[in-house]
Amino acid sequence: MDVIFEKSRPGRKGWSLPKCDVPAGPVGERIPEKFLRPAPPNLPCLGELDVVRHFTELSGRNFGVDSTFYPLGSCTMKYNPKVNEVAASLPSFAELHPYQPDSSAQGMLQLLYELERFLAEIAGLHSVSLQPAAGAHGELTSLMVIKAYHDDQGRRPTKILIPDSAHGTNPASSVICGYETVQLKSDSDGGVDLRHLEKLLSDDVAALMITNPNTLGLFDRNIKQITDRVHEAGGLVYLDGANMNAILGIVRPGDFGVDVMHYNPHKTFSTPHGGGGPGAGPIAVCERLASFLPVPVVEKEGNKYRLNWDRPKAIGKVRCFWGNIGVLIRAYTYILMQGPDGLRRVSENAILNANYLLYRLKDVYEIPYGHRCMHEFVISASPQKKTGARALDIAKRLLDFGFHPPTVYFPLIVPEALMIEPTETESKQTLDAFADALRAIAEEIDEDPRNVLDAPRSQCVRRLDEVRAARQLDLRWMSYPIHTAT
Ligand SMILES: *Cc1c(COP(=O)(O)O)cnc(C)c1O
Repeated sequence: MDVIFEKSRPGRKGWSLPKCDVPAGPVGERIPEKFLRPAPPNLPCLGELDVVRHFTELSGRNFGVDSTFYPLGSCTMKYNPKVNEVAASLPSFAELHPYQPDSSAQGMLQLLYELERFLAEIAGLHSVSLQPAAGAHGELTSLMVIKAYHDDQGRRPTKILIPDSAHGTNPASSVICGYETVQLKSDSDGGVDLRHLEKLLSDDVAALMITNPNTLGLFDRNIKQITDRVHEAGGLVYLDGANMNAILGIVRPGDFGVDVMHYNPHKTFSTPHGGGGPGAGPIAVCERLASFLPVPVVEKEGNKYRLNWDRPKAIGKVRCFWGNIGVLIRAYTYILMQGPDGLRRVSENAILNANYLLYRLKDVYEIPYGHRCMHEFVISASPQKKTGARALDIAKRLLDFGFHPPTVYFPLIVPEALMIEPTETESKQTLDAFADALRAIAEEIDEDPRNVLDAPRSQCVRRLDEVRAARQLDLRWMSYPIHTAT
């Protein structure tokens, strides 16, 4: 397939307009010199049909959950019900301007207010801010809230404890917020090592950032003891809520001692995501942190809704306008559609699907932690590595079987990790087909790993040098001649 610049023909265009009936003149007479480009932009010249065919063909080359099973661990690539799209594209939502006065945006404010209440209830916490733009941004915002709280108490603790199984955004957010991160070891069951926690706790600990269930897909049985000990030492407990898909309606983070958490609505509440966006990262906090939430917050007085900007202890503004509204509308629609019982069934089925897959794979791949899991699990290709194929090779070979690969080499504490999250939206037939593929690949490796090392062969590209691709962008069209429509 050609890149779009190779399809370009000088002078071809996708528009035709009637002859202009206002006097034309050199553009330089109308636009000040300093705003003019020195040369025309390097745009391809194509007809409308060329453009439609080009992008339709490209879209078919993409892996998406609408076309393929997408068991990307930690990312919760569940199906996005199309009713969410209908709601998000309603003209009265989509055409709203963020600077409209509150009185003319009552419907949207009501939606945001109710979504805040839903998220507070699911979390078992007091208040919510919908503003952060992604999970990682929710982490940073929460850490700023934690800092503001300690400041307000006249304390300046400097450390954040983070388990060694955590997502990389946890230490990154802490460092950006000016904290020192301290790594907390996992025990042989994959949970927090309580003795190590005890050793690290001091009045210099601002918070523990914990993911529960963690990235191994395990719910930490000691969670209450852990959060109690952190509180006794004067610290707060932050929950990375990326794994909420496992516990909706089953257990509330606020009940196991969490003070502040983020949601990834694009994961848990089904907005399509990937390739870097879009997402949102609402945070929920306990009552003693509520006054530090960023402005504005949505409030209800009588039956009127308004944005409150007047909050003296707030950490300030973290996102332009009101947040990533499109994602929030989808989350609201999804939560209403499921209702409380439906949300619980989401988690129960996510857990059932993951355990079924784990059961179908456990005699072929190594299971580093536990033989039961929550909504996802981690297998290790260490045995396969001895025969000559690594987790990366297995991931690439899965593409030839028509599946998006799972997450690989994460969490870092499992060598040759393949992290599998089927989600609740997949049928038994799909799970079986995926398990059969992984079993067939293991067999190939045992017999002759060459097929696997050579994969993928069914795709338009083979193995890409990912590091080089990121560091040396080869935008081939840069060197193509400029065609100007004259
Ligand atoms: C996805 C994820 C994050 C980051 O969330 P984004 O919305 O991608 O910024 C943090 N922690 C865990 C465990 C995750 O899976």
